[in-house]
Amino acid sequence: IVWTQDEGWHDAEILPFGPISMNPASSVLHYGQEIFEGLKAYRRADGSIVTFRAEENARRLNDSARRMALPELPVELFVESVRKLVEIDAEWVPSGDDQTLYIRPFMIADESFLGVRAAQRARFLIIASPSGAYFTGGVKPVSIWLSQGLSRAGQGGTGAAKCGGNYAASLLPQNQAAENGCQQVLFTDSNTVDTIDELGGMNLFLVRSDNTLVTPELNGNILPGITRKSLIQLAQDRGYSVEERAVTVSEWREGVADGSITEAFACGTAAVITPIGQLKSPDFTIDFGDNAPGELTLSLREELTGIQYGTREDRHGWLEVIVPA
Ligand code: PMP
Repeated sequence: IVWTQDEGWHDAEILPFGPISMNPASSVLHYGQEIFEGLKAYRRADGSIVTFRAEENARRLNDSARRMALPELPVELFVESVRKLVEIDAEWVPSGDDQTLYIRPFMIADESFLGVRAAQRARFLIIASPSGAYFTGGVKPVSIWLSQGLSRAGQGGTGAAKCGGNYAASLLPQNQAAENGCQQVLFTDSNTVDTIDELGGMNLFLVRSDNTLVTPELNGNILPGITRKSLIQLAQDRGYSVEERAVTVSEWREGVADGSITEAFACGTAAVITPIGQLKSPDFTIDFGDNAPGELTLSLREELTGIQYGTREDRHGWLEVIVPA
């Protein structure tokens, strides 16, 4: 679907997957005016297909759009586009644990114009692909690398937007994580290298022994994860208190040392909930527990996936049935 300053959103089309043509002067190719979303369709045991909180993705896309001077898309148009795609691709929605159809809506500035100003033409597209587990090897604790000197976002920047540029900035640190035997990179405030923002594609939670969960507050540098928001709700439903505030690596290290922090996990649409077993940096390595997933980590994961795959009651109305059983 195309947007122009004069006509708004128009010309919605459904096409077979394939190359798209672009003018080499298209603004997105030069100034990176691009935003995206990620969500999944799940096949439940009875064969029905559902999506999870798609309106949240629609709203976040619009938050990203405002920051990136792109046009907003009516929430219902986003949700309807997702619905249509899932209906058409229903046979591609796999079944089984961790199997989903991953859906990637995105918007690009597409005015052919060399000059630094917001484009007057944009396109919104959605593609999808069957996908399996984000980390191989089951629910096994991962090692994360503390990025030093390289940030994905800074104060006043685009950290809270889901724009391609944030991910471009995260690739070199992600490579460094891999070179150091880690599966993910942890970003902190670039000044202190202590206040935790998030991981390359996930938000972070620490679990305290006093039944409190702690997670970095939405400080403008981190993506407001929909999994994060859902887990805050599920944890509160169970009577846990959740603190959204500044969290530091020092606090994490000290808490592990004195036993007051018992678990750490990362969460996101792709990674679901992944336990963290080790934090590495050039200066130190911290191992958490016996390298086994924490109890609350596993049980929140079980509850969230249970809701998504239909084995647990959807008491907050997070699912939309797209293809009935
Ligand atoms: N932070 C970043 C940088 C991400 O890319 C993602 C994945 N979208 C998340 C957090 C988690 O967000 P969500 O739970 O909405 O997938």
